[in-house]
Amino acid sequence: MEILLNVSGIRKDFPVLEKKIHGKQLVYFDNAATTQKPIQVLEAVEQFYRTIYANVGRSVHELGLRATEAYEESRKIVSAFIGAMPDELVFTKQTTEAINLAAYSLLASGMISRGDLILTTRMEHHSNLLPWVRVAKLAGARLRIVNVDEEGRLDMGDFDKALAMRPRVVAVTHVSNVTGVVNPVKEICREAHSHGAVCLVDGAQSAPHMPIDVKEIDADFFAFSGHKMLGPMGIGGLYIRRELAEKLEPPFPGGGAISLVECQEDNCNAEWLHAPHKFEAGTPNVAGAVGLARAVEYLKTLGMGEVEEHEKMLTKRLLEVLEDLEVKIYGPLEVKDRLGVVSFNVEGLTPHEVASMLDLEGIAIRSGHHCALPLVKRLGAPMGTARASLYLYNTEEEIEYFARVLEKIKKIAK
Ligand code: PLP
Repeated sequence: MEILLNVSGIRKDFPVLEKKIHGKQLVYFDNAATTQKPIQVLEAVEQFYRTIYANVGRSVHELGLRATEAYEESRKIVSAFIGAMPDELVFTKQTTEAINLAAYSLLASGMISRGDLILTTRMEHHSNLLPWVRVAKLAGARLRIVNVDEEGRLDMGDFDKALAMRPRVVAVTHVSNVTGVVNPVKEICREAHSHGAVCLVDGAQSAPHMPIDVKEIDADFFAFSGHKMLGPMGIGGLYIRRELAEKLEPPFPGGGAISLVECQEDNCNAEWLHAPHKFEAGTPNVAGAVGLARAVEYLKTLGMGEVEEHEKMLTKRLLEVLEDLEVKIYGPLEVKDRLGVVSFNVEGLTPHEVASMLDLEGIAIRSGHHCALPLVKRLGAPMGTARASLYLYNTEEEIEYFARVLEKIKKIAK
């Protein structure tokens, strides 16, 4: 087998992976929820607080200048990672805030209004569904939810039908957080554009696991979370195509986003700074941005192509062991169509029971509806699923151990 990553070397960077849970070696298979942090990221955050901590963007003193420099340098590093220019990246708390920012910007700019159509899909995380539901309601617009098939793949026939209704916005996930299905987002954005729509891609489950080039995808918006890609919690990003960003009205006004405020009597007017600053009112998470930039550098050193291949190799093995155990697997069985998020159910046990039993053996997985209720219902799993999700520090040995424990659990269930 080809060695893609030096996983034993990588694991030394993640102190938590040495932990024992209930007396057993931790096996962390909950990476779609959040990922562990390497010491390099922990140190970068600590170093920021220890040496150059100050507020950004306004101070002329040395610490203020150095903090601003670190923040803007982080923006350069993180934007380059997804193939964008620095001024096209808005730092947000996470994907959820990024998608809300996109949706409310379109609303505030009159680009979604009464009678308009917003197109999204049945495979979305609630964070790429509920912001559109809310904005549609506020604007008097309509929502069209594209179907998925029983394997959780997007129904492209239904997508074409929905596009013919000429939506203003197409909002779609890149990778499903339930089935790992990878959507053809380049094709989706091309079609969206040819029908006059703006295209948003939810990259929460793709940016951590595969090379991303937002220009090649030709997305108008691309949202992602730092904590799912080795970075700290509380930092993420929204790519906004430059020409679009210039037209957008920032929906959440405040300090740090303006070049001028003038009040006459009781009337005030603001002039916005250029993007991305007009979208970042208030004190940002500077330490988070610094930590995310360090995470991105860590990933770049490994190579995102290598990360993806390593995870595909593990996913193939994970699917094989689950098939051998004859548990119900959701989503396609071919690795070429998916990444390392694998949902399954064991007959006779609820997903939470499976997760709790695995936890007693040191294995951390997720159970439930994964914030994607419309999808788990469509897949015929209204009680949800058990979900194992992999990352660059996982190993084949961990999968073999997981298989042995699951086999025992299956026997108990009988
Ligand atoms: N979109 C997808 C596909 C996700 O998997 C998640 C989180 O699991 C989100 C959005 C929301 O991410 P966050 O909670 O970091 O905002």
